[in-house]
Amino acid sequence: MANKATSSSSSQPEAADDETQDWILGAGSGWVEARTSCDHLNSLSSDLVHLPNPYTPCSRCENPVENWLCLCCKEVLCSRFVNRHMLMHHQQTGHCLALSYSDLSVWCFCCEAYLDAQIILQLRPVHQAAYILKFGEAPPLPQL
Ligand SMILES: [Zn+2]
Ligand SMILES: [Zn+2]
Ligand SMILES: [Zn+2]
Repeated sequence: MANKATSSSSSQPEAADDETQDWILGAGSGWVEARTSCDHLNSLSSDLVHLPNPYTPCSRCENPVENWLCLCCKEVLCSRFVNRHMLMHHQQTGHCLALSYSDLSVWCFCCEAYLDAQIILQLRPVHQAAYILKFGEAPPLPQL
């Protein structure tokens, strides 16, 4: 069963003409650009100044690190790479905005996209508050 590889092993993306389309479809190219708008921001909690600290364990399985904060009800839940409690929380409650305590990125489950918390005004305060909790200082100003 000598299957001599005749097909090209090059995985380099070739033509650049489909780049835009790939980006829109969220093709599996690894890095996906964060969105600068989202239709679900009105579900944000009204108090995003007082946050649970970044080392709060998952409220269901007590996973200690890299949890997500629900930005609608401020529950802390583990990631899809642990026990998926944040994902299950989204499915059960419809809450779709979550902030990662591992890298402070904001994910919208309804948009299935990362949101740029420094560009979207409604997300700036919570991103800042989480940043201060995690690093003890204010985040650097966004580079515009
Ligand atoms: Zn959204
Ligand atoms: Zn969990
Ligand atoms: Zn929630």
